Amino acid sequence: MTVRPNAPGVCTKPIQNLIRKVLPDREGILKELEVFAMENHVPIIEPEGAQVLRFLTSYHRPKRVLEVGAAIGYSAFVLSENMVEGGHIDTIERNPRRAALARENLKRMEKVTVHLHEGDAEEVLETLDGTYDFIFIDAAKGQYRKFFDLVEPKLRPGGIIVSDNVLFKGFIAQPELVRRRDRTIVRRMNDYLAFLSNHDRYTTTILPIGDGMALSQCNGGTK
Ligand code: SAH
Ligand code: MG
Repeated sequence: MTVRPNAPGVCTKPIQNLIRKVLPDREGILKELEVFAMENHVPIIEPEGAQVLRFLTSYHRPKRVLEVGAAIGYSAFVLSENMVEGGHIDTIERNPRRAALARENLKRMEKVTVHLHEGDAEEVLETLDGTYDFIFIDAAKGQYRKFFDLVEPKLRPGGIIVSDNVLFKGFIAQPELVRRRDRTIVRRMNDYLAFLSNHDRYTTTILPIGDGMALSQCNGGTK
């Protein structure tokens, strides 16, 4: 992960520390993967963001989950915790090294079945049939609108799409602080948040927690 000392942050540091401090310590595979991610600079979801996923899955109790951006499988384990018995996760990762690690790690998933699809989401998504109750978008930030358009037809009415890292360390609100080459990402993410917030079949809320999460609940209806 790139170190960005000038990042404005998504919420204040004291609030982030407080929320983090009261969370229970992770153990087992989650702990192992957090240590690995830290040592190897793999960008996994923050503990407080993972807790939002736990909250949402405990409410929705999804049976079929789709994840765009597996990295080493950490968030897939988090998502699996509150899924119903007999559930299934499809998760996609294009980086071959990470995909190999995820495949190995996910062998330890017991609660539900999981399929790691190696390849670019754009291509993999075309090959996936069926619908999902819960979709987690957590991949290249400049492409969220494209991912949304590809996954959205696969969401069942009443399902939810969660988009991670939508506040991009706070740069989203202060693009002048971001490196020039990241300005397109900031512009696109702003457009994406406006698009989600004005979608007539979704109710969206943007949470300044973790790296910013957009929760989009499908209200049903027809296209
Ligand atoms: N969800 C993981 C973190 C994912 S990090 C967790 O919280 O544990 C984002 C990952 O998305 C990276 O590993 C990156 O290689 C992958 N990615 C980015 N764009 C992608 C694309 N177009 N298709 C598939 N994977 C992609
Ligand atoms: Mg993320």
